[in-house]
Amino acid sequence: MLLTISTTAEPATDLGFLLHKHPDRVQEFRQSTGTATVFYPEANERRCTVALLLEVDPVALVRSTGKSSPDFSLSQYVNDRPYAASSLMAVALADVFRTARAGRCKARPELPGTPLPLEVALVCRGGADLARGVFEPLGWAVEARAVPLDEGFPEWGDSRYVRLTLRGTLRLADALNQLYVLLPVLDDAKHYWVAPDEVDKLLRAGEGWLREHPLRGVIARRYLGRRWTLARSALARLAELGDETEEQLEPAVSEEAAPDETAADEAVAAETEEALAETPETHETPEAHETTETPESHAGEPERVKQRPLNVLRREAVLATLEELGATSVIDLGCGQGELVGALLARPRFTRVAGADVSPLALTIAARKLRLERMSDSKRARLTLFQGALTYTDKRFAGYDAAVLMEVVEHVDPPRLAALERVVFGAAKPQHVLVTTPNVEYNVRYEFLDGLRHRDHRFEWTRAEFAAWCASVCERFGYTVGIRPVGEEDPELGPSTQMGVFTRG
Ligand code: SAH
Repeated sequence: MLLTISTTAEPATDLGFLLHKHPDRVQEFRQSTGTATVFYPEANERRCTVALLLEVDPVALVRSTGKSSPDFSLSQYVNDRPYAASSLMAVALADVFRTARAGRCKARPELPGTPLPLEVALVCRGGADLARGVFEPLGWAVEARAVPLDEGFPEWGDSRYVRLTLRGTLRLADALNQLYVLLPVLDDAKHYWVAPDEVDKLLRAGEGWLREHPLRGVIARRYLGRRWTLARSALARLAELGDETEEQLEPAVSEEAAPDETAADEAVAAETEEALAETPETHETPEAHETTETPESHAGEPERVKQRPLNVLRREAVLATLEELGATSVIDLGCGQGELVGALLARPRFTRVAGADVSPLALTIAARKLRLERMSDSKRARLTLFQGALTYTDKRFAGYDAAVLMEVVEHVDPPRLAALERVVFGAAKPQHVLVTTPNVEYNVRYEFLDGLRHRDHRFEWTRAEFAAWCASVCERFGYTVGIRPVGEEDPELGPSTQMGVFTRG
């Protein structure tokens, strides 16, 4: 595991003073997980680079995690630990550069407070989108290149690793603190048990940059090893009032897609993770399997009948229904990565389009996928994209002909569903509401599936359960409903997706 930090602030060798490590020496530091070595591959007046090399000793690592570690399998010994920067690297960095991280430098007291042109290079997991999402708001220019599985065999495609280069002008202490927090965030795994004092560590290292960070929820949750109570307490303390909502902690799209690696075979996991991160089309497992290859990818083979992925069918069904209802302004509630928003914008008849989601990460990805920055002014003027939770009344949800909740209700905890109903049908109360949700009866047709269609689904309804929910909503809020099938329909099990088309009055 290697991390380098370079500067071109002249004299660049001042980096040695700042880090309290002499550029001419190679120094080793014992860690509970292996050995950290600090050395300088280059050190001259114009440019100076320090390298932190961590050699992990798997046996020491297993011993240091102790009995509380849930995992005694072979993967503790054979894994990507030696390669991708992670919590191991973060801990070594914090230990080896402790004084620099605290911003102290006796020899050159003015140095720690001075922003320096810095370049950080490392290999990590977590994908390019997440890396940009966490580093760009902090002023880093992020260059992320996927690492091929094997350079000798480009046809094997890319691995799950990303080679990151971060460039920015920052105080070294800030850069070190950001890396300390964000390396485990990218890795999304900690090699040690996350104790409550980690909240303090997070807040200390996050001082001055975490509170305003748009992805603070994702960062807190991942940093704290997905211990929700701790993440909640961290966010409450960040907000000082304890008023951060639970919703901010809800899984973001690209994260919830990450497969359970302890259960899955590593290679398959890598593929799935990447496919899910890159192609929102494969948001749900079944859909990925329903997609047949495109003819181009199998040149020479007879063209197979193309069965379109369920999410495409769903989007088309929603679009067709909106057109049929004559809606011209539409809000997509729980818009995820903005697929439907993009399709609506592509149709001029929709003069006002909005997308709202509780997940800032989803919105960041949506903005990128929609190419918000390069969007024409006229298109941009038709679009509103904002963060909001569907379980809290929000004026911004109102004023549209139609609201769409496409594959969203099943992500909401049943006790919070009543709040969502009040917010959507009671307060925003558009003329039309379209709700799509899986039909759980159909799940037996997906033979690879055990359990629900998605890890974050809190429930999935049968046709009768969905119909009963629709009827109860209509009765309480003054709507009528028609339920339509989406996707292939099984004579006994019904369709894969069910869609409720609600109309007010
Ligand atoms: N509608 C999109 C995304 C579905 S995934 C599509 O069909 O592709 C479910 C989405 O609902 C996620 O993006 C998740 O962040 C969002 N979500 C879950 N609970 C929410 C809540 N309480 N408020 C707003 N959005 C929520």
